[in-house]
Amino acid sequence: MEIRVAVCGAAGRMGREVVRAILDAPDMELVAAIDRQEIDEDAGMLAGSSRCGVCIEPDLRAALARTHPDVMVDFTVPESVDENLKLALEQGVRLVVGTTGLTPEQIAEAAALSEQRGIGGIIAPNFAIGAVLMMQFAAQAAKYLPDVEIIELHHDRKLDAPSGTALLTAQRVAAARREAGVVPVSPPEGAVQKVPGARGAQGDLTGGVPVHSVRLPGLVAHQEVLLGGLGQMLTIRHDSFDRRSFMPGVLLAIRRVRTLDRLIVGLEHLL
Ligand code: NAD
Repeated sequence: MEIRVAVCGAAGRMGREVVRAILDAPDMELVAAIDRQEIDEDAGMLAGSSRCGVCIEPDLRAALARTHPDVMVDFTVPESVDENLKLALEQGVRLVVGTTGLTPEQIAEAAALSEQRGIGGIIAPNFAIGAVLMMQFAAQAAKYLPDVEIIELHHDRKLDAPSGTALLTAQRVAAARREAGVVPVSPPEGAVQKVPGARGAQGDLTGGVPVHSVRLPGLVAHQEVLLGGLGQMLTIRHDSFDRRSFMPGVLLAIRRVRTLDRLIVGLEHLL
């Protein structure tokens, strides 16, 4: 039986890519396409595919109640995603969430609701397999080279900074350092930032790993993890040149989320 999927944010850059991937997947059916823009446009035509008969509609609650999807995919904006997740969980719809910018509190709240209802979901700041591997390699390497900084580079329309991928990488690096009982040696005590934030975002969310955000036209999603040591540096880099790079991960998540009864964070748990 085909997996019935609703796409929230279907008229956005990622949403259109997801719509096209679902229309091409033999085991999936697009049952609803929700967005605030391009209302009444055919979602398939918008995605550069053929007409599919599913038109963009603005009301998520009504769309879920009418179509009863198995899974809702969300690629919207940081200020909408929290509300969308709750609406889906309340209607018993499983979640595949790519939108970044959710706070730890919002994720914890969604996880509690998902567990309470026994409805599975996945939140992944990056669905590209290469980026998942980059995070794993970075965590592994940080045990031996604990001095780490992250440079993340994205297109100029990205709304949140640092990126969700950079935050998750930083958290994984910090956890690996804690587990291995190693501490970074830099920066030196008493180092002064002439401009606040000059060494990048730091703090609880990044586990103390400096994260530098670059926003420029022409970019898609790129990240470098720099690990410095005495007389050496290891650079782990991942580039998404095209939004298609995220689609195998999104389709995998749609297929596998049906086996989950709680919310998980990170695609690596499904690989
Ligand atoms: P975009 O601005 O092109 O698209 C967002 C779409 O969401 C827009 O069409 C907007 O109208 C729509 N929208 C906003 N609020 C809505 C609501 N309440 N209901 C329905 N639709 C709503 O952005 P994008 O480049 O497609 O990125 C979307 C999100 O995906 C961002 O948070 C981005 O960081 C994230 N992203 C994640 C991955 C990943 O692998 N997880 C990859 C790339 C981008």
